[in-house]
Parts: sequence; structure tokens; C-alpha cells
Amino acid sequence: MGMQLSSAALAAIATLALVLALPPDGATMVAARSGASISMTRALTHAQAALPLEGKLVVIDPGHNPGNAAHAQNIGRSVDAGTLRKACDTVGTATAAGYPEWKHNLRVARRLARILVARGARVVLTHDGKRPRWGPCITRRARIANRLDADAAISIHADGHLGTSRGFHIIHPISVVGLTDDIAARSKRLARDVRKTYANTTGLPLARYAGKKGLHAREDIGGLNLSDVPKVLIETGNMRNAGDAALLTSGHFQWREARGIADGLTRFLKR
Ligand SMILES: [Zn+2]
Repeated sequence: MGMQLSSAALAAIATLALVLALPPDGATMVAARSGASISMTRALTHAQAALPLEGKLVVIDPGHNPGNAAHAQNIGRSVDAGTLRKACDTVGTATAAGYPEWKHNLRVARRLARILVARGARVVLTHDGKRPRWGPCITRRARIANRLDADAAISIHADGHLGTSRGFHIIHPISVVGLTDDIAARSKRLARDVRKTYANTTGLPLARYAGKKGLHAREDIGGLNLSDVPKVLIETGNMRNAGDAALLTSGHFQWREARGIADGLTRFLKR
């Protein structure tokens, strides 16, 4: 036998349905908020998918090589550095306590590579301290980035300036017709970008013993002369200065150096 509903009961059901269809203002607000948070989540996911350096290739060139000292003859060979002839490579400097420059350069280079890869870049190092066993020559260091048509390249060094001066500076190639005139302007921009972010991140002062305001335009650096891609060489600090040496040999500070350089490269590559 079917249930018979009175007209009063039907009216009550209709009223209940209307209340459910029109939630109180509080519920509407929650719905709007959750709608907003969904679109924010989508925006974040999108930002993560398109990393800032996606599609960019960076060549990192850690100055010197732990094997150079044992291969004096190989690295002492004279090569064409564009504007002059120079040794294929050198052993680099060290702190007063004997911490070698190559070790600092490699550690910063590895940290920098990790940061850039996390930002979506492809990264190539000119050597990893084991392969090749020495060098490579400055000519090859430049050629690696050229052959890959890198978007930017950077050589990482620490200075061995004698005296009490401290601070960092960035060397960029002077425009030489037929040699660096195609990359000089962009390299200078890269130098400026890295100067700003490296100073901010490390707190190191601009060196006053070289160049002007932390930038040094030179025409005698083979690795820059022979580059066909925007390239700079950073002297991250002065290893012969006790204050700088204490910082440059600290693993924690090496991360800050790497982040400062990575931020400058990112700024440059996103222009
Ligand atoms: Zn060096």
C-alpha cells in the first residue's frame, strides 16, 4: 500500500529543499575560498612545471685542477689565448694555511650546479677534478661552452692577491674586433648581474685592488677571449686575506657564494 503525503507535508519537503539549495552566507564564503585556493594551487603547480631556467644551458668552469701540480709540463705548454700566448693552465693559489684554490672552485661549482639544475637549467662542468686529470687548457675550457652553444658560461676562481686587500671582483672581456666584439656587451651585463647578487648574498665587499667597482674589463684572459657565448670570470674573494680565507674555506659560505652566483645567472638568463 503506497504512502499518501498530505499537502502540508509536501510543502514542508519543498521548503527543506529550498534551504539546502541556498546555503547560509558562511557556506558560500567557504565555497568561494576553497575555489580561490584551488586556482592558487593550480598557479603554483604551473609555476613549478615551468622552472625559471628551463631550456637554458650553463657551462661552469672551475678554475685550475687538482691534477695540475703533477702535470707541470702539460699545463705549462703555450697556447693561443686570442690576444697573446699563455700557459695552457695554471695551478692557482692557496690560503696561508694551504687550502688550495682549486678545491674552493670545485666546491662552489658543484653547489652552483645543484642550484641551477633545481631551477631547471642544464649544466655542464668543464672538469670535475678527476676527469680530465689535468687542465683542461684554457682553449678547451672556452671551446666546451662554444660547442654546446651555452646561454652563459662562468669561470670560478679565488684570487691570490698579496697584501691585506679583500673582496671580490668580476672579470669580463673587453671588446676586441673579430674576437670578443660579439659577446662583450652581454658579458658585461652578466658581470653586472652577478656583481649585484653575489654582493647581496655573501656580504663581501668589492675588491679595491682590481678593476672599477668590482668589475674588471681585460683582454688577456684566454678563457674569455676565446668564448663565443657570454662569459665572465669571478674572483670570489682574496684567499691571501685572512678574513676572506676564513669565509672562502667554509662549506656553509661556499653555498652562499653559489647562491649569489646562481641568482646573478638567473637574472641574466631571464632578461
Ligand atoms: Zn684562479
